[in-house]
Amino acid sequence: MKKLRNILSLVFIFLFFAGLLFNYYKQNSSYEVTEFLFDTTCTVSANGKNAKIACKEAFSEIEEIHTLTNFYSDTSDVSKINHAKEYEPVVIDKRTMEILSVALEVCEKSGGAFDITIAPLSVLWDFKREKPDIPTKTDINLAKEKINYKNMVIDKENLTVLKKNAETKIDLGAAAKGYASDKAVEIFKKYNISAVIDLGGNVSCTGKNSNSKNGLWKIGLQTPFKQTGSYEKTVEIAEGTVVTSGTYQRFFEIDEKKYHHIIDPKTGYPKEASYNAVTITGKSSLLADCLSTACFVLGKEQGVKLANYYNVEIYYY
Ligand code: AMP
Ligand code: MG
Repeated sequence: MKKLRNILSLVFIFLFFAGLLFNYYKQNSSYEVTEFLFDTTCTVSANGKNAKIACKEAFSEIEEIHTLTNFYSDTSDVSKINHAKEYEPVVIDKRTMEILSVALEVCEKSGGAFDITIAPLSVLWDFKREKPDIPTKTDINLAKEKINYKNMVIDKENLTVLKKNAETKIDLGAAAKGYASDKAVEIFKKYNISAVIDLGGNVSCTGKNSNSKNGLWKIGLQTPFKQTGSYEKTVEIAEGTVVTSGTYQRFFEIDEKKYHHIIDPKTGYPKEASYNAVTITGKSSLLADCLSTACFVLGKEQGVKLANYYNVEIYYY
């Protein structure tokens, strides 16, 4: 009898410590960070050994990409390019070059529906203002004349970029988040752990989802203008990215008309469309980011063609 009691006590002690250890491991194997960057809420969460270190490293990389591409900071690569003279070569970071290289290809393939030299128009519409107004037709036409991605010349080997026209200015708002997301994924892969990177409407997943039987990630596509969490559709992905461009993300309203932030470079006005969102799912978040904006402007018919060319899934809703 005494022997049995001793055995039971040992089993109890073992279970107690095993529970403590399990809890300790659980706490140290999942981690989440949220920060406000790229003018949106960015959350990175990871599951696995070194989750905390990996999340911190991923966030510092995301911050660096934000710093390089920040339109409003005088020291960013984007500012250096924007303030450069005609044909003056500007040396940029390798990462900015990677963004420019993919983005300029999408500019070309979309026939200019996507155009990173949209800055004169995005400054004019400025969706950050407290009291926005509609720009005048004259100002829109003046801004439109300055927009042409063909004025940008990149030299990938020497990491330089030059503009054929001093007035050309770039805005990487439609691409930088996607790239930051890709770079964060690289870090989690290095640590070999699962993670979700959510940079406001731009979600990337890596590794297996330990909360689902098949290891896949379920991402809800937000129904435009409905309460957060009401989904139009849910997509299931393994490794990959789900990126949305939508009219509901940034807009203002005047006389009951909505003006959103996705500008058609041909008209100079927010793209008029029968849909409110375009979602791209694929492997590269940088490409998906460029494509979601490009396909929004292109419209369904040409947008689907472009998505097929790049072998990504597309949803209009
Ligand atoms: P996204 O949310 O990825 O669709 O990006 C929208 C942001 O990209 C806007 O806030 C602008 O900064 C910029 N943008 C707007 N229209 C265009 C366009 N046609 N081509 C490239 N960038 C654009
Ligand atoms: Mg985009």
